[in-house]
Amino acid sequence: MIPRVTATVNLSAIQHNLRQVRRLSPGSRVMAAVKADGYGHGAVPVSRALDEAGVDCLAVACMEEAQELREAHLRAPVALLEGVLSPEEAALAAYEGMHVVVHAFWQIDLLEAMPSASNIAVWFKLDSGMHRLGFPLDAVPRLRQVLARHPSWRFQGWMTHLARADEPDVAATRQQIEAYDAALAGVPGPRSIANSAGLIAWPEARRDWVRPGLALYGASPLPGRSGAELGFQPALRLESRILAIRTYEAGDAIGYGASYVCPDRMPIGVVAVGYADGIHRALPNGAPVVVRGRRVPLAGRVSMDMITVDLRAVPEAQVGDPVLIFGEGLPAEEIAERAGTIVYELFCGLTNRVRFRYVGGDL
Ligand SMILES: *Cc1c(COP(=O)(O)O)cnc(C)c1O
Repeated sequence: MIPRVTATVNLSAIQHNLRQVRRLSPGSRVMAAVKADGYGHGAVPVSRALDEAGVDCLAVACMEEAQELREAHLRAPVALLEGVLSPEEAALAAYEGMHVVVHAFWQIDLLEAMPSASNIAVWFKLDSGMHRLGFPLDAVPRLRQVLARHPSWRFQGWMTHLARADEPDVAATRQQIEAYDAALAGVPGPRSIANSAGLIAWPEARRDWVRPGLALYGASPLPGRSGAELGFQPALRLESRILAIRTYEAGDAIGYGASYVCPDRMPIGVVAVGYADGIHRALPNGAPVVVRGRRVPLAGRVSMDMITVDLRAVPEAQVGDPVLIFGEGLPAEEIAERAGTIVYELFCGLTNRVRFRYVGGDL
């Protein structure tokens, strides 16, 4: 049986991208974000590949995601970016040796109430201007008192997160970094500021630790700049096949809502991929896919299981031909933009109907 929609994930590309992060930020340890099922790429295989390549830590959003990584048998520790939410999670995190990002005093209370957490590994997350998670900067003295009370806690460092790192040269980012530095002046402990955009675009944000996510999957976090331009390789190739080809007359309308009307007598290909696979329904007429090495435009609305494409540029196309939806040669960033979203959402939106294959990954 030929799978309908396949995502081929090249684990060697992910390892290459880790090396590229290290080239950009040579003095930093790397905490790789593998939350959201490794940005839709598959958290276990991705984490294994990063672990083999020597990543220093793997970061997930929550305990459920951390538990999924158990079967990967990683050497690198797993960090919980949202920390622990209950006494049970605090006990489990301590037992499993997870690194806990603490962003609020109630989480400190949880850990302090847990005798088994006496040697827990903790990060403190500071809000330097993102205004989502984190202690206010003026809490640093109190947090130092917490650390002084718990010399057995394994303190990992001070983390903050940038709100606008993907925008070139905005004052807000410089202000966040300066406020963070000022609050921590003379305070011991490792520093971590940068996500992918931060570490690529803001050299001053490359500190003891960097925390890339998107760049490891080979996509660019910076608008208008491709992953390839920045030295990253796209790791995921999403492909489907042509299911039917028919020739229609000028004036014939294609698909739901008749959103495309054939300007000429022309071949229309039906491709077996739809929004139930993760192709955004917002993708408009004219958005590209690749058939036999050539770009052809969408013609008609994305439906649940199918899309329709204008095959005039590839008259020799056959039923069964592979169709590249995004991947090397057709950047996912471009498809996301055409759909009015960001590549993060495109990756995370791939569904369990997509068949995943893993290639590469040998060092
Ligand atoms: C997800 C996440 C990252 C990684 O962000 P990218 O933009 O994908 O590089 C870094 N830090 C934190 C706190 C995160 O939640």
